[in-house]
Amino acid sequence: MNTMAPQGATRDVTKLLIVDDLAENLRALNAVIRADDRVVYQASSGEEALALLLEHDFALAILDVQMPGMDGFELAELMRGTDKTRHIPIVFVSAAGKELNYAFKGYETGAVDFLYKPLDPDAVRSKVNVFVDLHCQRMEIRRRVEEQQATMNELRAAQEEMRYALRMRDEFMSMVAHELRTPLNTLYLETQMRKMQLDRGNLEAFGPEQLAGMVARDGRQIQSMIRLIDDMLDVSRIRSGVLSIRPCDTELRDILQRLTSDLARQAADAGTHFELEAPAPVQGCWDEFRIEQVIINLLTNGLRYGGGKPVRVRLSADEKEARIDVIDQGDGIPEPMLARIFLPYERGHGNGVPSGLGLGLYISRQLAEAHQGTLTVRSTPGQGSVFTLALPRTTGA
Ligand code: ADP
Repeated sequence: MNTMAPQGATRDVTKLLIVDDLAENLRALNAVIRADDRVVYQASSGEEALALLLEHDFALAILDVQMPGMDGFELAELMRGTDKTRHIPIVFVSAAGKELNYAFKGYETGAVDFLYKPLDPDAVRSKVNVFVDLHCQRMEIRRRVEEQQATMNELRAAQEEMRYALRMRDEFMSMVAHELRTPLNTLYLETQMRKMQLDRGNLEAFGPEQLAGMVARDGRQIQSMIRLIDDMLDVSRIRSGVLSIRPCDTELRDILQRLTSDLARQAADAGTHFELEAPAPVQGCWDEFRIEQVIINLLTNGLRYGGGKPVRVRLSADEKEARIDVIDQGDGIPEPMLARIFLPYERGHGNGVPSGLGLGLYISRQLAEAHQGTLTVRSTPGQGSVFTLALPRTTGA
């Protein structure tokens, strides 16, 4: 029994190889060196030994020097020539009195030792124990190094993630500041202009028509700030897992008709219009307000990125699910961007279209999933994109 085995090394069995052409020698040696935490492999020729060496990782090879065919030294020479076996320590067993030390100088990296026949069991055992302990310690060190390496890799990945999160937060702050500044600046300019008109006593600037225009313009700026803040609140609700939906009886064709007509003015400003294909009402149990939010997002994206061409909106359903496709004919989305546009703060670049905070699709997908539905996209660059909202037609809240 190997009493010197270091702690922690017992997890693996240690494999030993003994090579001798005489079966009784193998039996005797095996009896001397075997232990519970070891497996002793026996080979009766160099060829047999090589086959075992290629298959297993040995802690030690004990080679009889004198064997017919390939002798112990030749076998050792072959072991030295192969990466897998180069580092295995070797103990040569030879007849007493032979001068062996010169014989295998070339075996640089692996440890080499000698035993002489007739074998003294105690000497054999203690020599083997030394090699086995060394092997176990090496394995333990390797395991620790690997563990440390894995820990380091985890730390590095966490650090990288944190850096990314910090960078995203900084970018987000400056984006929010910028997005809030635009409507605020416009409002501020408006108030300055009105003040100037008042100072000049120019009351025609505040006639009923002008006032209606002012109220509408102010309303748009305020709406865009409210939207922005709502989006940010939604993101923090999603992050903290408290985004909830309140399903009730909802009809989708109605919603689509209302929204496409509400956004008709915005579409006209973009030089285009919506084409709604909703042959029949589609009833279901969904959170009407949240579904509207998703559809508005898809419709405004269709206008924004649709290249000024008509945006088709198609409603269809079977017993299981309702589908809304929003189909634009814009530049489309390149393959590598397709999955990313659903990530928070992800905005397309370089298409010259002013984009928002990159939160719309992220929030929309979360809302679809909160309904056990999906929000997906297919796109052919140059030919536009199809965004599909699919909602299960479950009844009951
Ligand atoms: P944003 O506020 O930037 O529009 P979204 O989350 O709604 O944020 O969209 C993320 C990005 O996905 C956009 O910046 C844009 O690059 C891309 N995208 C969204 N809809 C379309 C579309 N219909 N066609 C092409 N690109 C789109």
